[in-house]
Amino acid sequence: MPRGDGTGPSGAGPGTGRGLGRGGSSGGRGKMGGQGLGSGGECVCPKCGYRMTHQLGTPCYDLKCPKCGAQMTR
Ligand SMILES: [Zn+2]
Repeated sequence: MPRGDGTGPSGAGPGTGRGLGRGGSSGGRGKMGGQGLGSGGECVCPKCGYRMTHQLGTPCYDLKCPKCGAQMTR
């Protein structure tokens, strides 16, 4: 572990960046239109209410909430 100066973690910002939808490791999203609601829509976490874009080919119940780990639903 590179920890020398104590000037804070390098690269790891607090709360920003990862897991917020950007930079998907698996191909990412193809189109990003303003009208996301429609054919695809969103998946919603029944526990905490977190929403994420529904990906084609992946049913909502196959996804897990990145926040609380619950099974996503529509
Ligand atoms: Zn959740």
